Amino acid sequence: MKLHEYQAKQVFADAGVPTPDSQLASDVDGVVTAAEEIGYPVAVKAQVQVGGRGKAGGIKLADDEDEAREAAESILGMDLKGYHVDRVLVEEAVDFTDELYVGITMDRGEGKPVAMVSTKGGVNIEEVAEEDPDAIAREHIDPAFGMHPYQARKAVYDAGVDQSVARDVSSVLTTLYQLWDDKDGADAEINPLMVTSDDDVIAADAVMNIDEDALFRQPELAEMEEEAAGGDELEQKADEYGFDYVRLEGNTGIIGNGAGLVMTTLDLVDYYGGEPANFLDVGGGAKADRIANALDMVFSDDNVESVVFNIFGGITRGDEVAKGINEALEQFDEIPKPVVVRLAGTNWEEGMEILNEDLVTVEQTLEDAVQRAVEYAEEVSE
Ligand code: GDP
Ligand code: MN
Repeated sequence: MKLHEYQAKQVFADAGVPTPDSQLASDVDGVVTAAEEIGYPVAVKAQVQVGGRGKAGGIKLADDEDEAREAAESILGMDLKGYHVDRVLVEEAVDFTDELYVGITMDRGEGKPVAMVSTKGGVNIEEVAEEDPDAIAREHIDPAFGMHPYQARKAVYDAGVDQSVARDVSSVLTTLYQLWDDKDGADAEINPLMVTSDDDVIAADAVMNIDEDALFRQPELAEMEEEAAGGDELEQKADEYGFDYVRLEGNTGIIGNGAGLVMTTLDLVDYYGGEPANFLDVGGGAKADRIANALDMVFSDDNVESVVFNIFGGITRGDEVAKGINEALEQFDEIPKPVVVRLAGTNWEEGMEILNEDLVTVEQTLEDAVQRAVEYAEEVSE
């Protein structure tokens, strides 16, 4: 579960990480009022659950009321990588000399959390990680002992952070690890951690992903999740339907039963040159109405150009699923997007016979089904 920037900043600020003065706003006048209270210049920042907002036009700086209005008008209501922006964070603009990166994540290869520091923070950190991995200093942490102060200092030193702010950056990193540990974090990241001309550091962005399965012992964060989901219609819908659903940025919708099978389908879509639009697990024993709800979910995503259904029957029966697909699609005068189905396992043959091929494309193998769906999606985008 991913917190919004404004929520993550609150969590970080409560733990003592310096963050800019900020207020949330949902209309143009609200932005102006907030900007006046905070004092110009301000940054106006789209609150949606995607990275790279800066490059996508979701962040603007404003020096006065006119510019604040202009920024608010262009960002509020915009479609940012498929997400509708209905709230912005208005924030004291930071006058910075450097943009650092600090983050904690789980290194599955090592089986340990890893602290990362780089002086090449800002909007290009993904490229830096790929092209110049040595520009990111890494320090693995033994969770039984936590992060030793010398480890934080070492990571900061290895990254080449300037002496004048090294202590402050180490302290932010230590706090970040503490938070990651206390709050059952999956990732905790500050990018950029800005260095000001007065040699202060301040978290200009904040990312906090929480382990979903630990939410039961993080009631405050669970509450934030409800608020966060409230910002996105599709996530809300998924909650109502009781689906495990993750929205992604591509155009090939994916429905499957069982998390592993859905992940495999996602990987295959990527392998065949497509881009997954979502992760959607309908779970075991999927009955007709659940299938209809799943289709409703993917069709509600404007980015979706084709859908691949990947069902492996066990408790779930192929004929049941096929009936569900037919029933759901018969309700449309025109099928919104092409649907490709692959059935395997219990009653798959019965299922294949039942499927109405006027409504769906049926493929025998998973590879064929995925390839077909990717082709359909590509045809539309051309
Ligand atoms: P992201 O693109 O979604 O990761 O959003 P960020 O919050 O990291 O902002 C992207 C970029 O916008 C930063 O790297 C900065 O260059 C710029 N930016 C964000 N906030 C401020 C600010 O308060 N002042 C200034 N000058 N630039 C900012
Ligand atoms: Mn950022």
